[in-house]
Amino acid sequence: MTGAFAHICDWVFDLDNTLYPAPTLYDAIGERMTAYIARAVGVSADTALQLREHYFHLYGATVVGLAMHHGVDARDFMAHVHDVDYSVLLPDPELAALIGALPGRKFIHTNGGGGHAQRALAALGLSSIFDAIFDLGDAEFSPKPQPNAYWRLVEACAITPSRALFVEDTLRNLEPAHQLGFTTALVGAVHPEPRPAYVGHWAVDVKALLRPD
Ligand SMILES: [Mg+2]
Repeated sequence: MTGAFAHICDWVFDLDNTLYPAPTLYDAIGERMTAYIARAVGVSADTALQLREHYFHLYGATVVGLAMHHGVDARDFMAHVHDVDYSVLLPDPELAALIGALPGRKFIHTNGGGGHAQRALAALGLSSIFDAIFDLGDAEFSPKPQPNAYWRLVEACAITPSRALFVEDTLRNLEPAHQLGFTTALVGAVHPEPRPAYVGHWAVDVKALLRPD
């Protein structure tokens, strides 16, 4: 870790595709989402998949569109679709050590809900190192990148953004964080060139971001 983070007291991490590669788990959750939508809205599986993707891109989380336009019970949907096998995720001791060694508080800010973060962190061996999980339910169903998601996080966790780092794999979720005053970091194999002003740091993954120089 570089001296660039010397002023950081609070560390906010996204979960999916930030702390672990999500595709394996996403397939199982995605299938349950599509089946639930088909049943609840009364459409074919193909149409359900289109709705799922449309609302994800429009609102940042599929459940928001389902609740808004189809009267779906958001909490029931979230609990149902995340009832999958988390044992496909393996403990990551190096990541636990790197995050655990950071000075200050550590938070998860995820657009997931329904116990997803708790189960994923348990499988990854990361449960004990975070001070709090702030999920979609905690955000009153305002997903990132909606500005309310960040305001609610800052208020609920008493975070001073100018002394906090916001880590994400999703580029569009960093701009509102930057506007609030967070230091931002993008993780992932690819990053935009030239780097937008709202992306403060980039690394291939969280471990590369936090490893001592
Ligand atoms: Mg993510």
